[in-house]
Amino acid sequence: MSRKLEAEINDDSGVLSYSGARVVLAHDGYMADLQKRLESIDAALAHRIMYENGEQTAARAVSETERLLLPLVKAINKRKVVEKMLLLALDRGYGLFRLGTFDYTTGKGMIMVGNSPVARNYGATDEAVCFTIAGIIAGAAHIVWSRPFKCIETKCAAHLGGEYCEFKLFPCTPAERESFLKKME
Ligand SMILES: [Zn+2]
Repeated sequence: MSRKLEAEINDDSGVLSYSGARVVLAHDGYMADLQKRLESIDAALAHRIMYENGEQTAARAVSETERLLLPLVKAINKRKVVEKMLLLALDRGYGLFRLGTFDYTTGKGMIMVGNSPVARNYGATDEAVCFTIAGIIAGAAHIVWSRPFKCIETKCAAHLGGEYCEFKLFPCTPAERESFLKKME
């Protein structure tokens, strides 16, 4: 199954718009390429940078209008907001996001991501490499539950093969998030 998505290029300004936001189209290998370049300088710090950039990507992906409506929608139905976030990630090309065991009250749970663009482009490795995807999940969860989250990749297709990467998501305090990020370095 496939769907057409609407993007619009303004020939006068050079701005490409998608879902009301300016975007640039990038090759799906750009995250793995950037991560490897950073890792060649400082492997541990690279992981933190990619993770925090993923968090920022999630925050940016929610348009201003949606941000205004979000508090209302969140109060009514967290499950609907989560479904919208999963669709947003899919429509941006970050892979096929599926929930495993998941608690909608706290946001704690398992997320499977099929066809991660990071795993697909990284090449064989002996560790999990999808730090951007983990950051996107944590950043999206922060928007839905209005609190910090930690997201750990527990199984990576680049490391163990297969179609899916698996991530564990936990709510945490700001201090716990900071020490989690520090441990990555
Ligand atoms: Zn992975």
